[in-house]
Amino acid sequence: MIEEAYTLSIEEVIKRSDSNASSGLNSRLAAEKLRQYGQNLLTRNKPKSPWHILLEQFLSPIVYILVGAMILAFLFSEAIEGLAILLVIIINAAIGFIMEYQAMRSFSALRKMVQTVSLVRRDGKEKRIKSNLLVPGDIILVQAGDVVPADARILEQKGLLLKESMLTGESAEVQKSLEVLPNKTRLTEQTNMLFNGTIVSRGSALAIVTATGDHTAIGQISRMTQAEEKKRAPLQERLTTLTNWLILITIALAAIIVISGLITSNDPVVMLKTGIALAVAAIPEGLPVVATITLARGMLKLSRQQVVIKKLESVQTLGETNIICTDKTGTLTENKMKVRLVEFEESKLDFRQNPEQAETLKKDNLSQDFFKVAILCNNSNPKKTNTHGDAIEEALMDFVEKVKVNTKEIVDDFPEVLELPFDVEKKIMATVNKNEESFIINVKGAPESVFDRCSHLNTGTEIKSFSNKEEWLQKVEKYASEGLKMLAFANKSIDTLPEKKDLINDLVLVGIVGFLDPPREDIKRTIQIYDDAGISVKMITGDHPGTAINIAKAIGLVKGNDNNKAILGTEYADFNDLNSNQKKDLLEANVFARMLPGQKLELVQLFQKNEGVVGMLGDGVNDAPALKTADIGIAMGVRGTEAAKEVADVILLDDKFTAIRLAIHQGRAIFENIRYFVIFLISCNLAEVISVSIASFSNLPMPLLPMQILYLNLVTDVFPALALGMGKGSKGIMKNKPRPPGEGILTKQHWIATISYGLSVTLSVIGMVIYADHFMAASLIQTNNMAFNTLVLAQLFNIFNLPKRRTSFFKNEVTSNKWVWLALIVSLFITYLGYSNEFLSDILNLEYLSVEQVFLSFLFAMSSLLISQIIKRSGLLKE
Ligand code: ATP
Repeated sequence: MIEEAYTLSIEEVIKRSDSNASSGLNSRLAAEKLRQYGQNLLTRNKPKSPWHILLEQFLSPIVYILVGAMILAFLFSEAIEGLAILLVIIINAAIGFIMEYQAMRSFSALRKMVQTVSLVRRDGKEKRIKSNLLVPGDIILVQAGDVVPADARILEQKGLLLKESMLTGESAEVQKSLEVLPNKTRLTEQTNMLFNGTIVSRGSALAIVTATGDHTAIGQISRMTQAEEKKRAPLQERLTTLTNWLILITIALAAIIVISGLITSNDPVVMLKTGIALAVAAIPEGLPVVATITLARGMLKLSRQQVVIKKLESVQTLGETNIICTDKTGTLTENKMKVRLVEFEESKLDFRQNPEQAETLKKDNLSQDFFKVAILCNNSNPKKTNTHGDAIEEALMDFVEKVKVNTKEIVDDFPEVLELPFDVEKKIMATVNKNEESFIINVKGAPESVFDRCSHLNTGTEIKSFSNKEEWLQKVEKYASEGLKMLAFANKSIDTLPEKKDLINDLVLVGIVGFLDPPREDIKRTIQIYDDAGISVKMITGDHPGTAINIAKAIGLVKGNDNNKAILGTEYADFNDLNSNQKKDLLEANVFARMLPGQKLELVQLFQKNEGVVGMLGDGVNDAPALKTADIGIAMGVRGTEAAKEVADVILLDDKFTAIRLAIHQGRAIFENIRYFVIFLISCNLAEVISVSIASFSNLPMPLLPMQILYLNLVTDVFPALALGMGKGSKGIMKNKPRPPGEGILTKQHWIATISYGLSVTLSVIGMVIYADHFMAASLIQTNNMAFNTLVLAQLFNIFNLPKRRTSFFKNEVTSNKWVWLALIVSLFITYLGYSNEFLSDILNLEYLSVEQVFLSFLFAMSSLLISQIIKRSGLLKE
């Protein structure tokens, strides 16, 4: 790493890095440096090492309790039990490790799919390499739209502007220079440096990497980007909190039972065993593991549909999303623009009615002026090899080619002197071109902006004063409402170049052009699906309100003839300072036109303050702040800039708006699944705890022994829970409203349901104990075995209680989940093994049951399902 690179001359930096500005590092040296300095990754982005994951498996309260139970068992000479608990700890850790390791592997594979690449000079060639392989001394090239991949000293620059707010907190764009700076210059003033994570918003630069990974400025600042501050506690954290609470309650309960048992009976060993049994009973060992697997699986599934989720917790937020903000061009429309209308003061060509009319565009002076603006003020023209134009500019080039204009001649005859790139705020682009001894200024932009800068008008035969601006504005309005995207062209001849700021004034209007960009085919249906799912789609565009409304109508975003529904960005100075009517208008509107990039961010914040969980689509550098602030930032994989992709939470690899629907569906389904298995696991564990407690208080034979509980929780509970995690989601999942933001994993209604299911399972177990004890005069061990069997079956049947109250008992998301059936078979088989395998049956204290006994336990187990269903379907439970 080169310390204080800003104080050194360029030559010195290159020398110290053993590099070369024109050929870069050679691969051998680069590989050596990579070994020496490590990958260019920030610690927070580095994957955990397998050892770390393994260690983490043992650092959880669940394990602490199990270890405590094990020590107690050994202390009381219960060696088999102690060993069994040890085995449980090991199995638990092994399952956790394997699952988490796999989840991490697939997670890193996903990240690789969207890994940033950098353009670098190595071995005398320019090539793209993964940004994490950059080393100090690498010569990198960055341009507008890129995220700077490491800290670097600038060697050359052209019109460079950077957004450094993620590092400095200042939103203004920063200019850069090559000047050597004095020691102790503040970070914000180190203008000859590029910093890792900042965004190139304009221009390009050649630079030499001076620091990578944690050695970069951003790596050293502990207060990191917003990404970490934002949003609610992730799902897994909430699950951990839930688990910890359950553990705490259990310990308290176990302590009460042990103490009260000690007072009433005098057998400390029995009481202690019961205490241990209780403690292990209530801990839902499978919970965190199953949650991680479910989330990771959801991510993998989505990646197959070309949707890459960058953070695990985004899956959960997707299910809560109730607003989607999107731009128009390219997302809702095809982005296949075509010139469809050209209008001058005295003539008009409307190709919508007559496509062949283009051929008749006269080769008069006015048309020549029109072509000059179209070709010269255009980043797609053949001379502009280092840039590429947008869809509008490509459409203009296609058009001039179609009318057989000699593009090359125009480009050669009028060389470019200066370009004022398209400015989103001013909505104008201009070039200055040399015309023998004088200059022509060619301007194109949004009609209102161009008209405001015109003082004259070219009629074709004369240049007259531009006195009919209103008339032109009305024309634009009319065409826009027909769905055309409008631009105005203007020019001016001058002899000497004025200052830049006076360049685009007093222009001569040439004419207007209309483009058609048809809405995408499948959008209408998708919008309807969002509507059904209670998700409101907001179109936020820089375009004219008329055009925006026309498209909005075509795709069903605005219904009926309500033309006034577009909110105009130009009418609002500050979205933070609104009266109640304005606020209502903004919250209700679906179309926002002539919006500036800064306003997008403010709008997202406004929605968020009003219960909005916002998914925001974007692709440009200017969208980055809004993408970051939104609850779910969604970037386009193909069209998106590196900057947008970097800050986004979700990347749509094939740029399809419709893919978000899949992600939301998946997000909702995953949450539903997690809810199901949490209810399942907690109600099962509850049944175990209450059964043991009741038995110990009422001196009934123990329905469950510690070993049996461990066996049950670890083996028979986990499989059904895992299977529930694989569910595809209930049928009406996209017909319901989104979950209220921040709603807990279990609502009050879910808790009531969980407790009810737990109690009905308990009832069947205790019923079995009483029946066996009183009416069958069964031995203690047989009573216990029948109760154990009842519990296993009742827990497995409990799975059918999970679907919503209003769905059919026989046909629902649980019964149609083939994994559930597989899990049931596996669990039954494992239970059978417990009875039939000598080693296991010894440890578990299980004896062979007669057919009658099995049948009885089956009946009791069935009754628990029956009771739960009666409670549920009678309306006592709301879920
Ligand atoms: P969306 O926000 O849906 O992508 P948009 O492309 O119209 O729509 P902006 O890029 O903010 O939004 O452009 C705003 C306006 O500036 C456009 O409506 C158009 O009139 C004008 N404009 C767009 N691109 C150019 C360009 N390359 N040169 C000149 N003017 C342009």
